[in-house]
Amino acid sequence: MNLPQQVFLRDAMRTLNLTRESLSQRIGCTKRALDTWLLPDESGEFRAMPEMARRFISEILAASASGGPASAQATPAATTTTSIPTAFGRLSHLLSVDQFSRDTAERLFMLADVMQPIARRRKVSRVLEGAVLANLFFEASTRTRLSFASAFMRLGGSVSDTTGFTYSSMAKGESIADTSRTVSGYADVIVVRHPEQGSVAQFAAATHVPLINGGDGAGEHPTQALIDLYTVQREFSRLGKLVDGAHIVITGDLKYGRTAHSLIKLLSLYRHMRFTLVSPPSLEMPSEIVELIAARGHIVTPTDSLAHALPDADVIYTTRIQRERLTGEKIDDFLAAFEINKKAIDQHCRPDVIVMHPLPRDSRPGAHDLHTDLDGDARLAIFRQTDNGVPVRMAIFATLLGVEGLIQRSLRDALWAVPATLGPNDFPVDDLDLPSGR
Ligand code: ASP
Repeated sequence: MNLPQQVFLRDAMRTLNLTRESLSQRIGCTKRALDTWLLPDESGEFRAMPEMARRFISEILAASASGGPASAQATPAATTTTSIPTAFGRLSHLLSVDQFSRDTAERLFMLADVMQPIARRRKVSRVLEGAVLANLFFEASTRTRLSFASAFMRLGGSVSDTTGFTYSSMAKGESIADTSRTVSGYADVIVVRHPEQGSVAQFAAATHVPLINGGDGAGEHPTQALIDLYTVQREFSRLGKLVDGAHIVITGDLKYGRTAHSLIKLLSLYRHMRFTLVSPPSLEMPSEIVELIAARGHIVTPTDSLAHALPDADVIYTTRIQRERLTGEKIDDFLAAFEINKKAIDQHCRPDVIVMHPLPRDSRPGAHDLHTDLDGDARLAIFRQTDNGVPVRMAIFATLLGVEGLIQRSLRDALWAVPATLGPNDFPVDDLDLPSGR
């Protein structure tokens, strides 16, 4: 694949574990020049990268590859259920982040970078023309259901879906296995969200059509975690930071929050991480996950004090209280102390912190979830995070359906009008001068 220069450069930085600054020093150009090579083609400040630079970086990559794999700890954790595949690839199911190594996650991100111009509506591709996605959502969803659908349709496929139990034959007592096998006759890939932990693996056991876990109860949400890690990498690239050694603060409902479970496991594939886990009493991270992360050599500090956690955080990943899963925990009196708002961030955090949330945030009075007073602040990355859902999910479909090598030459220009930014509070993220602070 002759990669576009932006994809080539981002991939090189990930593989070599270099920031923009250190890559520019390594190849002897200014950081400003490198930044202009990384901008989208349509940006006024974009510059073509000289062929000599591409060759030089390719040589550095080849030398590093012959010195051993670029990522040291690319060992997927063992899985316990036989129906869970141990790797991610063509026609496999995607059930858990345990299927990923650092290397396979970063390969996927390279493909997501290739998808960016399609997700940004600059290019069109029809590589999945004729293919059908079945979206089976037995629990509430906005982002996951719609972004999977958008990703599939933007690659030329069609989507068929069912929402909730009421209008599916499960309301008539049909088993997971019968439903799964039936849908396999209608679709080329299936996404399932279900309220019971482990249930999506049961769907997968009954089909050879690739099936993706869109969230199984308090279990996992692997595609959200991939989007979250991809977002961290892109934000860090802008800020000149590396994921290795980062301090990640995860707050909120860590007991039932499946996105937090998947994300911390995925981030633990990096080196020397520091995790501070802030939760109200009774909603702490499950001990088996804490033990796994600590056993991988990372520093894990559980606390119930935001003031202790926030100073020197690189990322604050805040989550919603999963009220639909609570089993009598009494938390309402504590919640105010866990709210992430502008005052807490201004008072305790470094100016280059980023604030993330898998969304939805609960904006009802008394919920004390992520406050809206940070809206419009460059440190708030939540809508850059939701936007990244489309290219990452496109990359997942392309890999599962074996068309990843066809994307580049399938691209045509999009013909319709698109706004310069998608929301009133958006920053033009590709601008070189995106503010990193308030
Ligand atoms: N949308 C995420 C999930 O499905 C987070 C949440 O619902 O709070 O897990």
